[in-house]
Amino acid sequence: MYHINTKCVQAGYEPKNGESRVVPIVQSTTFKYDSAATLGKLFDLEEDGFFYTRLTNPTLSAVAAKIAALEGGVGAMLTASGQAASMLSITNICHAGDHVVCSTAIYGGTFNLFHKSLRELGIDFTFVTPDATEEEINAAFKENTKACFVESISNPSLDVADVELYARIAHAHGVPLIVDNTFPTPVNFRPFEWGADIIVHSTSKYLDGHAVALGGVIVDSGNFDWTNGKYPAFTEPDESYHGVIYTERFGKAAYITKAVTHLMRDYGPQQSPQNAFLLSLGIETLFLRVERHCSNALAVAKFLENNDKIEWVNYPGLESNKYYERTKKYMPNGSCGVISFGVKGGREQAMKFMDNLRLAKLVIHVADVRTCALHPASTTHRQMNDQQLEECGVKPNLIRMSVGIEYIDDIIADLTQALDKI
Ligand SMILES: *Cc1c(COP(=O)(O)O)cnc(C)c1O
Repeated sequence: MYHINTKCVQAGYEPKNGESRVVPIVQSTTFKYDSAATLGKLFDLEEDGFFYTRLTNPTLSAVAAKIAALEGGVGAMLTASGQAASMLSITNICHAGDHVVCSTAIYGGTFNLFHKSLRELGIDFTFVTPDATEEEINAAFKENTKACFVESISNPSLDVADVELYARIAHAHGVPLIVDNTFPTPVNFRPFEWGADIIVHSTSKYLDGHAVALGGVIVDSGNFDWTNGKYPAFTEPDESYHGVIYTERFGKAAYITKAVTHLMRDYGPQQSPQNAFLLSLGIETLFLRVERHCSNALAVAKFLENNDKIEWVNYPGLESNKYYERTKKYMPNGSCGVISFGVKGGREQAMKFMDNLRLAKLVIHVADVRTCALHPASTTHRQMNDQQLEECGVKPNLIRMSVGIEYIDDIIADLTQALDKI
């Protein structure tokens, strides 16, 4: 078993004699076979092989295997975006009439997906606050609950989920825990080691790390028992595959196989081979980048905490943070490169500060190598008034900064000159 840093570089792809050393971009939608019988067996899932890129292809499969190795899962499926990964992670097990328990501390796009779009499809959600007690979380579960969903470090509020606790509660109710592990990445945190069953990522963030390729991934731990009576889709014949029973045919890989052969086949939000190649290139340096993102972010957070024009700083790595102990438990080597802070003087001063940044660019993104910043109150959340902002935990003076891997003194100098002007 190699160290995770080695897995970032080499896992997932073993070239045979004379094959390309680097994962090749197989830019082909389709694959050729000599006999109709062979192709028929592929269609019946009786043999392994590539036949149409909407299901998978050699590039996608190698990159998925790399990510499965990083998280310690039995298999993974790439998707076109993080949103597609979150959607399929739920719809693989939940149907109209089912229910999911979910933390409120999740990405805004995920909240809209769950609260609006999946509700429109008949899947109901109960949201619990990040610091809900065990009793409160338990009380959110119902007879028809089929999954529990949390974000390990939430974007943008930076709440750190008590994954071990959530896993224990979910399992007591006979349902899997799904964790969005985008922010810490498997380099800093591996939810399967704490009892999570399914992991999703927006690979558009640190895994790619260069802001070049949109993508997502679902990883299956292989540990959840789908035969407990709540999941007939796994234990009863799938007539669209001549009666295959996923748990019998695919064992530990039942969940991820069904995600590919059923959901990817029918819905089709596949990642492009070109993007998967860029993702793979990014992951090769993930452990180096994450380390620098974290040390730079901690330095920036400490700098801001000691600046008298700053009202508050939120970063799980700061000793003053309410999640400091929990972060040390789950992520002893670091959390993520994203911090948030409030500029004194409210919305006006925050906007002025943003306009004066030079090195840090204003973009709607996080987690790539370049430092960037966002003022939600004047951009992503601009339709809300100050009171509505407070209610969803986004203060009017909040600035979210994704600290890049540039030389730390240059980042601090940029912040200093921008603060000097307000
Ligand atoms: C960005 C993000 C998503 C959505 O991913 P896309 O690739 O933008 O679709 C989901 N979860 C988290 C935590 C994110 O930061």
